[in-house]
This record gives sequence, C-alpha cells and structure tokens, in this order.
Amino acid sequence: GGDKLLVGLIGAGIQRSLSPALHEEEARHHGLRLHYQLIDLELSGATPEHLPTLLAAARAMGFAGLNITYPCKQAVIPLLDELSPQAQAMGAVNTVVLHGGRLVGHNTDGSGWAWGFRRVLPEADLGCVVLLGAGGAGSAIADAVLSLGAARLRLVDTDPARAQSLADALNLRYPFRASAHGDAAQALQRATGLIHATPTGMAKLPGLPLAAELLRPSLWVSEVVYVPIETELLRTARALGCPTMDGGTMAVGQAVGAFELFTGLKADAARMEQHFRQL
Ligand code: NAD
Repeated sequence: GGDKLLVGLIGAGIQRSLSPALHEEEARHHGLRLHYQLIDLELSGATPEHLPTLLAAARAMGFAGLNITYPCKQAVIPLLDELSPQAQAMGAVNTVVLHGGRLVGHNTDGSGWAWGFRRVLPEADLGCVVLLGAGGAGSAIADAVLSLGAARLRLVDTDPARAQSLADALNLRYPFRASAHGDAAQALQRATGLIHATPTGMAKLPGLPLAAELLRPSLWVSEVVYVPIETELLRTARALGCPTMDGGTMAVGQAVGAFELFTGLKADAARMEQHFRQL
C-alpha cells in the first residue's frame, strides 16, 4: 500500500551500515512499514557532485528522509531549503527530512552523543574536557558538550588549523570556552574528561590515538569509533578504571534522533540500543 515509508542513507563505503536494520526494526515495533535504502556512492561510482541528482530522485520517489554521511555532510548543505539551528551551527548535516518537496537539514550526531553521554556517564565532570579530532564527528560533539555545560573545551588535532578554526567558530556561540592546543599531553593537564573523535582504533586503522601514559583513572573517556565496539583506547582506559562510553551509544543516539525526524514517532531508545548490541 501507499503507507510504506521510504528512507535511506547517502554516503561512500556504507555497505556495512547498521542503519537499515535499526530503522526497519524500530518501525516494525510501531506497526509502520519502512524501507531503508543504502545509496552507496562507492558502488555506483558517484561523487558528491551527483547530490543534486540524487536528491531530486529521492524527492520524485517520495522519500520521507535521508541520512547523509561521509563525504556528503557539508556538500549537501547548499542544496537544502532550510537548516535546523544545530546543523547550521555545526556546518554539517547528517539527516534530511523531505516535507512536501522541501528539504530540511538536521544534525543528530551531536544530540545523539549528548543523549548517550547523559545516560552512560551522568556523573561526569564537565569542568575541562579535551576533544581529540576536530573533524566531522568532533565538530558535532563539540557543540553538544558545550551545550551540556562544559566549562572548558580543549581541542587537539594533528592538523592544528582545524583545531583553531573549530575553536574560533565555537567561541562565537560559547564565548571564551573553547581553545586549540598543540599536543594532547599539554591539553590533558588537569582535564576531567577525554572525547576521542579521530578514526584511530577502527579495524582498518588500529592503535591508540595518544600515548597510553596520558590516561589516568580520574579521566572519563568517550569514544566515537564503533567498529570495533571495544577499541584499544577503551580497553586501555577500562583497564585503568576510567569511566567510559563507547561509540555504539552515539551511533544509537543519532539513529534515534533520525528515526523520530523521519517518522514523527517517539523511538524506544532502549529497545534500539538493545537491538544494536545484538547486531
Ligand atoms: P574526519 O576525518 O572528519 O575527522 C577526523 C579528524 O581527526 C581530522 O581532523 C584529523 O586531522 C584528526 N586526527 C586524526 N588522527 C589524529 C590523532 N591521532 N590525533 C589528533 N587528531 C587526529 O572524520 P570523522 O567523520 O569525524 O570521523 C571520525 C571517526 O568517528 C570515524 O571513525 C567515524 O566512523 C566515527 N564516527 C562515529 C559516529 C558514531 O555515531 N559513533 C558518528 C560519526 C563518526
């Protein structure tokens, strides 16, 4: 029937994405028929330059929404009719809602991280937070952790200009709270928590993003990488006794936010998380 909701994901190299399973299963619990289509630029040989064609096709086919991932989160912005304040502030979109032909961009990466952080590390001290990695995920989380009330946010990136320009952008919204630092050792002095937002630790990029000696039991550690779910950073931090949050929690949080935007329904976050942990 016509009651089936069509949604999807545009990105490159997304064949192992868990989003189809997460969204379709949650929809099923609501008695909603939903199909989540992977639109993989790597398979079709397309590039972000094909985004206008892909968006026009999605509109013509009656898609209710699209998730957007690497390498399209910034490239999609000029093609949208409207942006949520968060997406505008982050300069990145991971969710597009199609409303009567209008395309509205949102970002549920930051809100998804914040949802997980409040749930998994509710006691965490936000006095002085270090964020390693000022790229896509890092920018979204930076905004989220400042909106949760982080007093200081120290940014470290192997590309110092990236850390500095993110700090400058954040300070426009959160005056005097963000700063760029040249190295992790210096940034971690008297820090209360560490957020890791580089790809280091992924199956194809194993290892630690910083020297293990820089960790200490009083530091909470939040990881973005979720393949594998237990990274070397998390293993090292847990062995020391650090309170930790894995990257899966953020992955679930962003899916919860996207599901609610696509469907207008309240997702059962605990159920989605339980499902994610079984995949
Ligand atoms: P990105 O390339 O946009 O940003 C990574 C940044 O880290 C770059 O600025 C790079 O210069 C910096 N960097 C790399 N190694 C570093 C190091 N050792 N020390 C300091 N800085 C370093 O990548 P991204 O899109 O932000 O993705 C980062 C990771 O986050 C990926 O593994 C991705 O899969 C993951 N991610 C997870 C979720 C989730 O829901 N859990 C969401 C988005 C991204």
